Amino acid sequence: MNATPPPRPGKIAIVGGGVIGLSIGWRLAAAGCAVEIFERGAAGHGASWAAAGMLAAGSEVEPGERVLFGLLKHSQSLWPGFAAELAEASGIDVELRTEGTISVALSQDELGRLRQTYALQQQLGVNSRWLGRAELLEREPHLNPRLAGAILVPGDFQVENRMLVEALKLAFARAGGVLRENVGDVAVRTGTDRAVGVTAGGSDYTAETVIVAAGAWTPDVAGLPAAACPPVRPVKGQMMAVRMDPAAPILNHVLWTQKAYLVPRLDGRLLIGATTEERGFDTSLTAGGMLSLLESAWRALPGIEELPIIESWVGFRPGSRDDAPILGGTAIEGLVLATGHHRNGILLTPITADAIAGLVMTGETDPAIARFGLARFGPHEFERTKSWISA
Ligand SMILES: Cc1cc2nc3c(=O)[nH]c(=O)nc-3n(C[C@H](O)[C@H](O)[C@H](O)COP(=O)(O)OP(=O)(O)OC[C@H]3O[C@@H](n4cnc5c(N)ncnc54)[C@H](O)[C@@H]3O)c2cc1C
Repeated sequence: MNATPPPRPGKIAIVGGGVIGLSIGWRLAAAGCAVEIFERGAAGHGASWAAAGMLAAGSEVEPGERVLFGLLKHSQSLWPGFAAELAEASGIDVELRTEGTISVALSQDELGRLRQTYALQQQLGVNSRWLGRAELLEREPHLNPRLAGAILVPGDFQVENRMLVEALKLAFARAGGVLRENVGDVAVRTGTDRAVGVTAGGSDYTAETVIVAAGAWTPDVAGLPAAACPPVRPVKGQMMAVRMDPAAPILNHVLWTQKAYLVPRLDGRLLIGATTEERGFDTSLTAGGMLSLLESAWRALPGIEELPIIESWVGFRPGSRDDAPILGGTAIEGLVLATGHHRNGILLTPITADAIAGLVMTGETDPAIARFGLARFGPHEFERTKSWISA
């Protein structure tokens, strides 16, 4: 005998149409829920558009982030299936590239640090290995032959995050979701201890569940009660792109130096990123930022010198106090957070979408996200963080 399926939740409103809001919306709409996404501007033009699309759980390991690494690894394993499902649902291929990621040391000093990264990778069970000079240059003949050392992480893939946004928008709409763009700043509405909907573009919309996925702007969402306000801040990143000949690219793997990364796209763009700056929502591109990216990229891959610069931009990572995402319910019934994905929001899209959609539909917290709730910061942090951000 079949078990009775749990009742569908009532109307769901999502604040923010980046990859996080869109992917949760897609999962919920595909399951038959009534979902509306409210985006103040054009969907997917925040951090989700500015990102490099690396799925770099292994190459990015940092001491002290063991718990986060487990979540990153989990989401990384979901990516191939997620990309295939999304292609089927939207007709858009998000260009999941599987060459892997190479991290290089440009000097003896950097080699010492690369050795530490490798040791940490081995402790955490990352599949990585040192590349000898011959193999390195066979894989990437345009690299500086005087590099001091290199590691390959074969499982660290990349996707085209701007295509990802387009695919998610289409899949969400095809599943019956409603995307309301350019509605200006959306506010959360709460009654006595529960979420009751949102206000957007001067109109009130009723919802039994409100999911706030407003990236780096989440603490500024009007109406968000202090008890549900996450310690999230903008972490500025400057980035640029040069154009390679797509028929003869000078790089095929994602490449990490200790000060920049390079991400080759199938259409010939080569992204060079990114700075990490605590400057609030400052949108300026600086000479120093560009110089440090270019200098580091050029030392590893001298051939970029001849390539035309085609684009430069700034984005804001939603950084939380411990660099891990903030996922799950709050003290306010019906009010859910999906934010704080910092430098890994593209990588964390599949697990976030599955776990938050599951939470809304069943009331159950997926064990994968159980350690990433707002409660881990303690009750006194939220107001302080918020006033620091707006200072
Ligand atoms: C330079 C850079 C490089 C990165 N590279 C990578 C990478 O290689 N791999 C990786 O995994 N991650 C990367 N990231 C991180 C990743 O981009 C983010 O973690 C992810 O995009 C966060 O998605 P989001 O949907 O939460 O936020 P966003 O994409 O910023 O979306 C939030 C949306 O909410 C909207 N919004 C805000 N306030 C309101 C409001 N009041 N009402 C209505 N709408 C509102 C905004 O307009 C925005 O569209 C990078 C980020 C940057 C900046």
